[in-house]
Amino acid sequence: REHLSPALRRIAASPTTAMTDRATELREAGRDIISLSVGEPDFATPPHVVQAAKDALDQGLTRYTPVTGMARLKQAAALHFRRDLGIEADPANIVVTAGGKQALFEVLCASVGEGDEVIVPAPWWVSYPQMVRFAGGRVVPLITHARDNFRFDAADLAALITPKTQWLLLNSPGNPTGATYPAEMLQGIGKLLRDHPRVMVLSDDIYAPLNYTGARHATLANVCPDLADQICTISGVSKSHAMTGFRIGVATGPAWLIEAMGRLQSNSSGNPASISQAAAIAAFEGPQEFLAEWREVFRARRDLVVGRINAIPGLSTPVPEGAFYCFIDASPLMERFGGDDTRLALHLLEHGVAVVAASAFGGRNGFRISFAAEETVLEEAMHRIAAALA
Ligand code: PLP
Repeated sequence: REHLSPALRRIAASPTTAMTDRATELREAGRDIISLSVGEPDFATPPHVVQAAKDALDQGLTRYTPVTGMARLKQAAALHFRRDLGIEADPANIVVTAGGKQALFEVLCASVGEGDEVIVPAPWWVSYPQMVRFAGGRVVPLITHARDNFRFDAADLAALITPKTQWLLLNSPGNPTGATYPAEMLQGIGKLLRDHPRVMVLSDDIYAPLNYTGARHATLANVCPDLADQICTISGVSKSHAMTGFRIGVATGPAWLIEAMGRLQSNSSGNPASISQAAAIAAFEGPQEFLAEWREVFRARRDLVVGRINAIPGLSTPVPEGAFYCFIDASPLMERFGGDDTRLALHLLEHGVAVVAASAFGGRNGFRISFAAEETVLEEAMHRIAAALA
C-alpha cells in the first residue's frame, strides 16, 4: 500500500463498483435484476463491422501497427470528422486510441500540470474528474441545473475562468444528462474563448449521432473553426456503432497535442488492437443508414421512460436531447433515504432495478438510468421503480 504513487492516491475506484457488486450478489442469489446502469447500446454490432474484424484475422492482420493508428484508419476517421461533425481534420493530426477514454486520459495527462484548473460541467461523466486529478490538475465544477436542461452558457463559464484555467470539458450530447448544445450556445461560448486564448476545450463528441433534436449535431470546432488551435475533439465508434468492446476512439486537435498524445501512447499501450482498427475502418467507411433507425428506437424509448418517470410522484426529469440516459431528480423523496442517494439507488436495486446514484456524477438527490434496453424491459423497470417508491 505504501508504494501507491501520489497520482494514484488522488483517484478513487469507480463509484459504481459497490452497486455492481451488490447487483451481482443479488443475481447470483437468483434474483431477477434489470440493469439500467450500464453505458452501452444494447444493439448488436453491425454485421459488416464484425465481418471486417474476421477478415482482418484471416488476412493475418495480427501484428503491431503504427502506434497512433493505421494510415487507412486515420483517413477513415478524417472522413468521419468531416461528414459527421463538420470538422476538417488532417489525418496527420489524428490519433487513434483504445476507446474515447484513452484519448481523454492522454489529452489530460499530456497537458495538465500541478495546479492547473480544468472546468468540468456537473453533472459529469464519472471519469473526467478522476483523470484531471490523476494528471495533477484541479477540478473546477461548473454546476448546471435541470431547469436549464443541464446546460451552462458563456456567462456561467466566464465566472469560473482564471489565469490558471487550462481546459474546459464540453460533452455534447452529454453523459449523464443527455444535455445537447445547439450551435447558438456554442457561438456564445466561442466568443468568450476568443478573449481567453490560453483556455483549451476538450470536446467529447462520442454520442454525436445520438441526437434527438432533429438538428444537425453541433460541435465547437465546426461552429468556430477559427478556434481550431484551442480545441481537441474526441469521437469514436463505441456508442455510435455498438462497438464498446472493440476499444477504438479517435481524437483531432492542434499538432503539438496530437504529437504529445502519440508520445505517451508509444510508451504505454502502443497501438490500438489491429483487429479493432480494421473493424473501425468498416464502421467509418461503411453504411451509416442504420444510425437513423437506432436513433428512432432510442427516441421512442426515451419518450416512454420520460413519460413514466415524470408520472411517478417525487421523481422528475427534463427530456434528454441526446445520448441514452435520463438524469432523474428525487429530491422530494430524499428524507426517506437520509438524504443519501446511494441508499436510494440500493433501495431500487433491492426492488430489482440497477441504477447509478446522481452523486456518482457530481450531482445530488437522484439517479441516472440508461434507456439502452428493450421497451418491454423498460416498462417493467418503470413499474418496479414506481412500486419501490410508492
Ligand atoms: N465519454 C463519455 C461521455 C462516455 O460516456 C464514455 C463511455 O461511457 C466515453 C467517453 C468512453 O468511451 P469509450 O468506450 O470509447 O472509451
